[in-house]
Amino acid sequence: MAENKVRLRIVTPVRELYDKDTEMVIMRSSIGDVGILHGHQPLTTTLDYGLLRIINGDEEIKATVFGGFASVDSRGITILSDAAEWPDEIDEKRAIAAKERAEKRIKSNDESVDIVRAELALRRALLRLEAKGK
Ligand code: ATP
Repeated sequence: MAENKVRLRIVTPVRELYDKDTEMVIMRSSIGDVGILHGHQPLTTTLDYGLLRIINGDEEIKATVFGGFASVDSRGITILSDAAEWPDEIDEKRAIAAKERAEKRIKSNDESVDIVRAELALRRALLRLEAKGK
């Protein structure tokens, strides 16, 4: 590991999204944003839906992360998530359609609608649009 850097690995069931040394990582844990630098104390936490921020000098890149776990130890940070995406992989029209679908379900009085599921779908769509700068 490079000096004063921390190794970040982001893994989903279908791919390894990232595996590089980085200066700072800010992740959305279930209890709020957590910033990790080289030498951070060991930590294991569940993740909320959120934008992961990878910071190197003046450069910051972002990725959507949809829950999962993060573990920090002397080898670095490992993030295991069901889904994670770079902004340029996100289909904006699909996210808008998902948002509208979820909003319609939430507003409907249809008792067969699973509201919790619709709310989670809405949050995923909103996060994807946020990643696109919308
Ligand atoms: P949708 O209703 O559009 O499928 P979703 O929120 O239900 O959205 P997920 O279950 O979060 O979708 O993701 C399923 C797969 O589809 C994942 O691999 C995810 O990366 C991909 N995906 C979902 N929405 C988009 C999008 N707008 N652009 C690109 N990939 C997407």
